[in-house]
Order: sequence, then structure tokens, then C-alpha cells
Amino acid sequence: MYKRVHVLDLGYQYCETMDWQRAAWLVYSGRAEALVSSSTIRLRNDFFLPRVIRLLKSIRRKYLGGVPFNRKNLFIRDGNRCRYCGNNGNKETLTFDHVLPESRGGQTCWENAVTACRSCNNRKDDRTPAEAGMPFIDRGFRPYRPTVMEFFATRLKLEGLEGVLDELGIA
Ligand SMILES: [Zn+2]
Repeated sequence: MYKRVHVLDLGYQYCETMDWQRAAWLVYSGRAEALVSSSTIRLRNDFFLPRVIRLLKSIRRKYLGGVPFNRKNLFIRDGNRCRYCGNNGNKETLTFDHVLPESRGGQTCWENAVTACRSCNNRKDDRTPAEAGMPFIDRGFRPYRPTVMEFFATRLKLEGLEGVLDELGIA
């Protein structure tokens, strides 16, 4: 059950995802509007909070410098799936793998990191995918830095909200 709300700025750019309490306060206090009435979080009996809201004043963007690189965001980019075997996981079962191992000078960045399940990560060990005979399940995939809107679209999809961008006309 997701109880987090996605926040767009005045210009319909993705800003952040926050807990519902903060989002509810923004809407209640008139600083944000509900955008997608069809996708809601049912909080209690008859109270529904929209899953996407839009700030009415602020144009401050949390992700102005791009999507920050961290484990959680990497898992989102990769759809919570292991890039080697394709199995789904969650933040407890997934790990992040340096494609070129750190011990060999591999950087910790979007372009050198993929989501891997524990068993693939152990099997790959300190080797490149080619050395380990472990190509990505999607052969054409190359690790990349997602744009803010790509990241947002994937995030929505993972929560079953893929229709939202169409609904907003910003797909
Ligand atoms: Zn795997």
C-alpha cells in the first residue's frame, strides 16, 4: 500500500515524492491542488487523497540537478528488477552492482551501476559481466542517468499509475 504522493511544480515538472501527511497539508492549506482525482489514497473511511498534486506557487525543484544517484533511485530506474536474471525484488532483497567492479576502478555512478539480486551479485563477484558470462537480460541495455521525467514515469508505472502522465497531457 503506497501512501506517498507525487508532487509536480507549477510548470508540471516532477519535484518530489512525499509522505501523505505533508501532501494533505499542502492541499488543505491551499498551496497545492489535486491533479488526478481518479488515483487516490484511501486514508480513512471517506477521506481520499490524490496521488499526484501540483504546487500552486513554488517553482523550486528538488531534482533541479538531475535525479540523485542512490540505491533507492537506482532500483526505481531498473524497475525493481535484477538486470542480470530479470527477477523482481524489493529494497531488502536487491543490491547494487558496479558493472566494472570498484576494485578495478569502476565508479559509483548511474553509468556504472545496475540493480542485481543477491545471488547474481554474488555470482558475478569481482568480474565484469563479460568475464562472468552474465550479460544483461535486456541485451541492448546500457546503464544510464535517467532524466527527471523518465524517472517519474518509471516511478508511476511501478505503482500502477502509468495512466497519469497521459491524463495530465505530459507523457
Ligand atoms: Zn539476478
